[in-house]
Amino acid sequence: MEMIIGGKKVTKPKMIKVYNPFNGEIVGEVPEAEVSDVKVAIELAEEGKKAMKELPLHKRAEILFNTGLLLEKNEHKITDILVKEVGKTVNEAKSEVLRTADLFKYASEEAKRIHGETLPFSSVTGSENKRGAYILEPVGIVGAITPFNVPLSLAAHKVAPAIAAGNAIVLKPATQTPLNTLMLGELLLEAGMPQKALSVLTGHGSTVGNAIVEDPRIRFLSFTGSAETGKNIAKNAGIKKIGLELGSNAPLIVMDSANIDKAVKATVSGGFSVAGQICISVQRVFVHEKVYEIFIDKLVKKVKEIIFGDPTKEETIMGPVIDEQNAIRIIDWIKEAESKGGKILTGGKRNYTLVEPTVIIDVPLDCKIMQNELFGPAVALRKVKNLDEAINLANQSVYGLQAGIFTKNIFEAFRAAQEIETGGVMINEGPRYRADFMPYGGYKMSGIGREGIRYAIEEMSEIKVICFDIEG
Ligand code: NAP
Repeated sequence: MEMIIGGKKVTKPKMIKVYNPFNGEIVGEVPEAEVSDVKVAIELAEEGKKAMKELPLHKRAEILFNTGLLLEKNEHKITDILVKEVGKTVNEAKSEVLRTADLFKYASEEAKRIHGETLPFSSVTGSENKRGAYILEPVGIVGAITPFNVPLSLAAHKVAPAIAAGNAIVLKPATQTPLNTLMLGELLLEAGMPQKALSVLTGHGSTVGNAIVEDPRIRFLSFTGSAETGKNIAKNAGIKKIGLELGSNAPLIVMDSANIDKAVKATVSGGFSVAGQICISVQRVFVHEKVYEIFIDKLVKKVKEIIFGDPTKEETIMGPVIDEQNAIRIIDWIKEAESKGGKILTGGKRNYTLVEPTVIIDVPLDCKIMQNELFGPAVALRKVKNLDEAINLANQSVYGLQAGIFTKNIFEAFRAAQEIETGGVMINEGPRYRADFMPYGGYKMSGIGREGIRYAIEEMSEIKVICFDIEG
């Protein structure tokens, strides 16, 4: 496929191959952009940003709505490519495409509601004759860098609010899964996006990504990816606004009053969809001692029922992880937990990139799977005596993206909501729950800022105060 620079399709002599994580076959190839391509894209975006700022809100809304319709129209094509390049199952890929279409339509509604606020100048002595307000203006150019795992939806979480706020966009998808994002770029242009306001550059993070990060003409840098890359970006970005959506090792607490079947269901869907490669995948599960045994029995039974394998087959529930290097790492972490005293109740092996859905219990706290982000299909369980211990363990993490608790006790629910240090606490729901409109982002190493359409629009805008003195 070709990449997009200022709305035009561009190719390069050097191409990067895209592989199918399930079988290693080549799925396609994309141009390897260079730093000079980033410069050209940003020069064109300097013109494109003027066109974007001038677009009335109803026109921005129209582009967003059209993009939603076009995604629905192209559902089969994009689903197919997500299955092939990410290794998602057909159902996972299809729901990502349809959810992304909805996200664009939702953003088209939000675009019509962008406004500032009047300011109470007369509340300050000496300002009795002042009247005024603040308005929101576009920042100009948004730079967006996305990860491999939910590539279409996470690109949309940046592109849709950027358009609503009236900005030009320079977008770089992950090198392992760029094809869906190039398709999205083509649909955005078909939907009416001003050409110079859109570039989708393919190429490596260390060159192309870094050039976007460092350029002072990018006024908001929106990044989703690992904490390690996020740290580099924070160091290199200079004076510009940044939004960092980083990793986590999401905790789930199951108390003795919990609806166990519901908690098991949330653990299975949260721990194993997209083979555990979601930033809010359930990773650490803390279960009250009174229900530990029954929870484990029910969980293991359900995990054993997960059909894993070829993601193109309708019956497959879980596909491969992104590459063999990660599959090896995931198994290493599981084995480390076992060697320190954890017990594997199911799973623990791999075949190429297919890692068995794994449940490991009684996991010591100093294991990697309790400390770091696994990004693979395994959940680690520990027994707890009470809520204090559970909250304390949930907070024993450098991350803080989302958490979940199952309890019927309203006091426990309130305490968890107040005391867990995460950007979201889900009660009687797993940490993987996310509605695309809600503010979403992390405490601690999970990031800076919030996505969710309205909140991202605010971050992608400048506040301008306009103040009149009415004495003339
Ligand atoms: P990653 O390795 O950090 O890569 C993310 C993006 O950053 C890719 O496009 C990558 O390009 C680029 N990049 C790499 N080095 C860069 C640099 N020095 N400067 C600028 N850009 C650079 O992450 P990943 O493995 O693709 O994704 C998994 C991670 O994303 C996990 O940690 C997960 O938790 C996190 N994530 C967070 C959220 C959230 O909303 N909080 C959502 C999804 C995923 P290349 O592909 O060319 O290396």
